[in-house]
Amino acid sequence: MKCKKCNRHTTVKLSHATFCTSCFNKIIESRTRKTIRLNKLINKRKNIVYYDDSKKAKVLLYILEKTFKNQPFIFKKTNKLTKGVLLAWSTDDENKYFLEQLTTKNKYKLLGHNHYKKPLLNITDQELLAYAKIKNITAKKTKKESTAQEKFLDFVEAKHPGSKFALLNSTKKLKAILK
Ligand SMILES: [Zn+2]
Repeated sequence: MKCKKCNRHTTVKLSHATFCTSCFNKIIESRTRKTIRLNKLINKRKNIVYYDDSKKAKVLLYILEKTFKNQPFIFKKTNKLTKGVLLAWSTDDENKYFLEQLTTKNKYKLLGHNHYKKPLLNITDQELLAYAKIKNITAKKTKKESTAQEKFLDFVEAKHPGSKFALLNSTKKLKAILK
């Protein structure tokens, strides 16, 4: 298999495409920077990152520190989920949250979730884990049973690669309409 971008030998295999390590890293980092820029997530000197020792939180902090190296921004860790914190929240998390709100709660509350900043919103769990592996970012394993929504989303993604991004785009549109 060849890298989708440069035709070199592939090392990262995702459900929707395959890439070489170098192209893959660039894609993840630039997509995160774009999310930050478009949503103006980093605009103060002092920024608070929700940090719980999970692999995702470590990836988030790693990318933030790499992106804003030599710039006057500082990133402080907190273990409290307070308003305005930078949260390691992926495409999968957003999709799962959307389905949960839609299927288990009486009221659709996705709008209320805007008080966290989500730089990794446009990155899937599969991409985050692949990135962590390349960068040697590890975390203690936590055993967690997949929820029905997670199983459903993984099933659809396996059958129709790219579905997770498609659903994310739909939730974004829905949020814009409901605004
Ligand atoms: Zn490549």
